[in-house]
Amino acid sequence: MNITEKITKYIDEHTDEMVADTMRLCAVNSEKGAYGEGKPYGDGPFKALCEAMDLCEKYGFDVKNYDNYVATADMNDKESGLDILAHMDVVPAGDGWTVTEAYKPVVKDGRIYGRGSSDDKGPAMCALYAMRAVKELGLPLSRNCRLILGTDEESGSSDIKHYYAIEKEAPMTFSPDGEFPLINVEKGQFRGSITKSFDSGLKAKDFVYIKGGTTINIVPGKAEARLKGFEINEITECAKAVEDSTGVSFSFCEEAGDVIISAEGKGAHASTPENGKNAAIALCTLVSKLTVEESERSAALKTLVELFPYGVTDGSGIGIKMSDEVSHATTCTLDIVEITETGLTAKWDARTCVSANEENCVEVAKKNVTSKGFEVETSFIPAHVVDGDSDFVKTLLACYEKYTGKKGECLAIGGGTYVHELKNGVAFGAVGDTTDTHMHGADEFMIIEEMKTAAKIFAEAIYELCK
Ligand SMILES: [Zn+2]
Repeated sequence: MNITEKITKYIDEHTDEMVADTMRLCAVNSEKGAYGEGKPYGDGPFKALCEAMDLCEKYGFDVKNYDNYVATADMNDKESGLDILAHMDVVPAGDGWTVTEAYKPVVKDGRIYGRGSSDDKGPAMCALYAMRAVKELGLPLSRNCRLILGTDEESGSSDIKHYYAIEKEAPMTFSPDGEFPLINVEKGQFRGSITKSFDSGLKAKDFVYIKGGTTINIVPGKAEARLKGFEINEITECAKAVEDSTGVSFSFCEEAGDVIISAEGKGAHASTPENGKNAAIALCTLVSKLTVEESERSAALKTLVELFPYGVTDGSGIGIKMSDEVSHATTCTLDIVEITETGLTAKWDARTCVSANEENCVEVAKKNVTSKGFEVETSFIPAHVVDGDSDFVKTLLACYEKYTGKKGECLAIGGGTYVHELKNGVAFGAVGDTTDTHMHGADEFMIIEEMKTAAKIFAEAIYELCK
């Protein structure tokens, strides 16, 4: 038997065990909890980490615990070669589960259902079983492969900051916390917070407030405004025109002589704002077109709509429109708006292409926003890029092609993954490229056939990269 046949046989024979171990981990509710002594992210992540360490030890790997932030399992004590980065924490269960309860994993129709099954406990087990296969088949390695299991990926990745403050990055790292084939480019993240205060007070015919959005990385699907001095029938014609041009719908009611406008659009992740219908901007657009009395507030509202026009998601309003071959276009969305009697706050989330930097992006946006009379604060994390023609990436893609029969290609995404801060880190698997496993939603699942394929791919990759 050649190596591919040996790996295939091993994983096929150990699938039931791999599934059982995944279910054991998924039965632990590892949502982030309150800090406790020796439990940096609360009881749940700590418990899941203990279970995972137990498995790694049982299969004969050398386990090390980094203060319960992160645990590692080593294949050997040779020089560092490959790190595999996965995580044991999960996002909250949420509502709407129908197949099973979030922390009562079940196997149904060839899938494991349960919170964490595909993000990221199942993929972590694919990596562990890949390591088992290489070890138990006796495939010779000249370098180490280390599994790193974190417990804070979903809430800011402070776990691996703790780890990398102690340990050096391996020459190569992949994280099975995405999808196949392989993600080697992640856009940068450029966020801004705009503020302005007012002291002029409300006019007789004016808006009392406009509010939309609560989370900076979500395009707001809902927004609300309150108008004084208006009748509903003064608004409806203009509202109809804005509805027609935006696709956001408005409804009205009266409350204590004021008119309340509710806007209903469609939420989306900030990395794909073109999939959403921004209710906050549509509502700002509507109110800016109504005949409110002129004031500093109404002028500021008009200016805000000019900087972030409805439907424009390329950042051109603030001057950061840019694109390149590697990462495609910068996207930008205004996700939080709150204008009250005394002040305005608005926050944007832009995902920047590889060529965006402090000078051509951050400084330009700051200048454009402050020149309109706003104050602004920004944060910027540059894009992450690993060479798609490197031996490392080519080897991973070759392993992918071998076990799937599909073409292996690099992907660029707008979201940041676990490897964003690493020099030579990519996201690789473990979910198939056409599967939506409801990560972060109800009825999250992992397809067992895809787990087997991922484990085989990882095993061969470990051997090829560390032999
Ligand atoms: Zn994840």
